[in-house]
Amino acid sequence: MIDFKALSETYGTPLYVYDFDAMRVQFESLKEAFKGRKSILAYAVKANSNLSVIKHFAQLGSGADCVSIGEVRRALMVGIPKYRILLSGVGKSDDEIREAIKADILYINVESEAELSRVEMIARELNAKARISIRVNPNIDPKTHPYISTGLHDNKFGVEIVAAKRMYIQAKNSNHLDPVGIHFHIGSQLTELEPIYEAAAIVSDLLRSLQAINIELKFFDIGGGLGVRYNDEITIQPYDYAQAILSALKGLDITIICEPGRFLTANAGYFLTKVLYEKRNGAKRFVIVDGAMNDLIRPSLYKAYHRIEALGKEGDEGPADVVGPVCESGDFLAKNYPLPAMEHNDLLVVHSAGAYGFGMGSNYNTRGRSAEIAVDGENIRLIRRRETFEDVIALEREYLEG
Ligand SMILES: *Cc1c(COP(=O)(O)O)cnc(C)c1O
Repeated sequence: MIDFKALSETYGTPLYVYDFDAMRVQFESLKEAFKGRKSILAYAVKANSNLSVIKHFAQLGSGADCVSIGEVRRALMVGIPKYRILLSGVGKSDDEIREAIKADILYINVESEAELSRVEMIARELNAKARISIRVNPNIDPKTHPYISTGLHDNKFGVEIVAAKRMYIQAKNSNHLDPVGIHFHIGSQLTELEPIYEAAAIVSDLLRSLQAINIELKFFDIGGGLGVRYNDEITIQPYDYAQAILSALKGLDITIICEPGRFLTANAGYFLTKVLYEKRNGAKRFVIVDGAMNDLIRPSLYKAYHRIEALGKEGDEGPADVVGPVCESGDFLAKNYPLPAMEHNDLLVVHSAGAYGFGMGSNYNTRGRSAEIAVDGENIRLIRRRETFEDVIALEREYLEG
């Protein structure tokens, strides 16, 4: 059991706390599901990009799925081997492409015909051969929140099957492109297997039709997206997930790359925030806390649900909106959430905050970002110090004169 009270006293609030054992358990469970198959788990760094978190996965043998060159640098810095690093993303800049080719990472996931030409041009300049994979948009409804759906033609991600085929032929005929993989990622927080299977089947058909024209790929990159339980969701079991992918591949011998983010970190993370005040506006109850949308934006952005535990408190004073100090009506951690009567300095533990929590944070309202703590067995350590006012203004202050 993590002693949240002690942590909040030592490190202050708001505070992110990550259970490294829980991350390890998730990683091992997925690895186990693909056992006996050539596979790489490439942690989707954007879910939680703290260097110590990435390093933790590096030590478990993880690769890294990155969506910016900054994330690639993070991954390399903590010891993820370059041959397990991917660069994805719909809008890579020339500089990012150049650096990725020079860094000799496993491959670049290409998301448009224009981008493919760009990668080819840059590789030619560098006199290199860029390893690429093409992100296919299989036009599958992943049955998740529209903001985290990515595999429909309505979404900006990937290219249609016919375009992908043209692109593989272009790549195959180029002296500066080496097509090695095929990629899809249909969305996040997936809780149904069927859309994943369908997407995998569509993409594996494309893989076979490429084989028929002598384009042999080495990597079948199934993206991430495995959902987790925030509330009462029935989630996909790693074993069933792996079996669905394998059955879509129908015996094809190819290395599977999986890019889990949320699955590895969400439920290993907690956001601690202290109660400042309680108040009522007419019949409406508000619990005002010191954490806000600049710390954890998922409730505001996606209406995401996070379980909230009022530490050491009992009873139910009725539903309350748990709101932060930020000057936005959209600044809330929960709406109509049943809570006991709360007093100044009571501690709330917001669960499932380990993915897309800290990383989506900002300095809005000139609020310094919170500290992050790792709990690794008996070992408790700071992995990012709290931002001070000086940190927040550091890049502006020098321009005041003149
Ligand atoms: C965001 C993302 C992931 C990880 O998604 P999760 O839902 O956190 O597992 C994997 N691959 C790509 C390409 C992504 O954009």
